[in-house]
Amino acid sequence: MIEIQHEGYRPTLWERVAAAPHPSRSFQASLWHATAPPPPASAPLTGAASTDVAIVGGGYLGLSTALHLAEAGVAVTVLEADEPGFGASGRNTGFVVPNLLTGLDPAGMRAALGAEHGDLLCRMVGGGADLVFDLIRRHGMDAQARQTGWLQPIHTPAKRAWLDDRVAQWRGLGQEVRLLDRDEAVYETGSPSYHGAFFDPSGGHLNPLAYCRGLAAAAIAAGAALHTTSRVRHVARGAGGWRVTTDGGELTAKRLLLTTNVTGGGVAPAAENTQIPITLFQVATQPLDPALRETVLPHDRCSADTRKDLIAYRWSSDNRLVTGGLLANPFGSVARGRHHHLDRLRALLPQLPELTADYAWQGRLGAAKDFLPRLMTLGPNGWSANACNGRGMAMTTAFGRALARWLAGGANDRLPVPVTKPDPVPTPALISLAISAWLPFNRWADRRALARARRAGQ
Ligand SMILES: Cc1cc2nc3c(=O)[nH]c(=O)nc-3n(C[C@H](O)[C@H](O)[C@H](O)COP(=O)(O)OP(=O)(O)OC[C@H]3O[C@@H](n4cnc5c(N)ncnc54)[C@H](O)[C@@H]3O)c2cc1C
Repeated sequence: MIEIQHEGYRPTLWERVAAAPHPSRSFQASLWHATAPPPPASAPLTGAASTDVAIVGGGYLGLSTALHLAEAGVAVTVLEADEPGFGASGRNTGFVVPNLLTGLDPAGMRAALGAEHGDLLCRMVGGGADLVFDLIRRHGMDAQARQTGWLQPIHTPAKRAWLDDRVAQWRGLGQEVRLLDRDEAVYETGSPSYHGAFFDPSGGHLNPLAYCRGLAAAAIAAGAALHTTSRVRHVARGAGGWRVTTDGGELTAKRLLLTTNVTGGGVAPAAENTQIPITLFQVATQPLDPALRETVLPHDRCSADTRKDLIAYRWSSDNRLVTGGLLANPFGSVARGRHHHLDRLRALLPQLPELTADYAWQGRLGAAKDFLPRLMTLGPNGWSANACNGRGMAMTTAFGRALARWLAGGANDRLPVPVTKPDPVPTPALISLAISAWLPFNRWADRRALARARRAGQ
């Protein structure tokens, strides 16, 4: 029998802490939970069952893989610890973004992965938003989806050269992106403080939990099996394939794919600890006067700027503004997050009235040390995949489709990333704390950049 960790691999205490299950607190407190259609009916795994591909984790990555596998006629079973979207997929801001984080533009991806994988990854990321909205249309999902475009405004004129380069790189790939000048950026965002913007019309926004539940329903309709409230405790490989054990049952599978993001709970510590957990706080305001939509994001786009401590905001379908981000002290901070994030938004958008937070919640994402997706081998016919990195809705959906095509018989060389061994970071939980602790310095750097621009009269 093969245990999935690397031979001799022993997780450290910090690795065990980082692999702790997702805090259940606040999943039901989100705006998305209050406004999404109900999840499809499903039941826990009980007794013995078998399948071709077992997928552990019912977020976008697991469910997109399952949907596309089922459509290709492959028998697939998803085991989800709680319910679809309980992880990051049901708690995020709902931005559908067709690129990765700053620094991972086409040149960055090629530099990191080589020309072949880099190009495949760029095309996959660039087409990710179209794929999300196509799936929503094709499967008739009620996800409050708006393909109105994604804005990345620059907060100082010093970012202009970077912006020109970013636009040129994505246009070079055939992506229909545009550079907005200062006036256009101010009009599109509603904030007088921006100096230009990157605009990708294929992006947009939606209710992220509704989209995740829609993926689950579509996967089931295509023939996939989904078992909720089925936390996987152990996986091991024997003569008959992989044995996947939950509290109530055991699934035997020819192939195994873990898509547990940062919440695996120690099922595969080496793979899980390639991801640094980062807690983010989200707020939705009271319903606002619809007339404000004329001056704040008038085309109903979503916006996430270039600050180190970035400011992101969008409208919900019921006229609330949704925003959020990091906090320097991540412990017990949902209440503090309300004030901090709303104050920031009012400073950015002076036309806003007094804001109150009708909804406040938190979520945890996983980020690899290089912010790139990973497909890691766990043993024969067993893998762990991750593509969260904070900007993962389009990315995980597209990566899931690529994984399904590969598992359904496609060639290795069509995968956008190489299959590698897990490369765990030694202390993910400590790094996570350090990122929060570093936040005041990032804010100071943001303020300094703004002050410099003001002094220069820009
Ligand atoms: C607050 C926040 C805001 C964000 N905003 C955006 C945004 O606006 N746009 C964007 O593109 N991305 C955003 N992201 C990132 C995005 O949410 C993620 O990239 C994406 O949801 C990752 O999907 P996933 O399927 O990989 O992981 P997850 O959605 O985390 O799914 C993992 C699933 O595995 C299950 N699981 C874990 N362990 C086990 C086990 N042992 N047995 C069974 N099941 C298990 C969990 O319950 C969970 O449902 C945000 C993330 C957060 C937290």
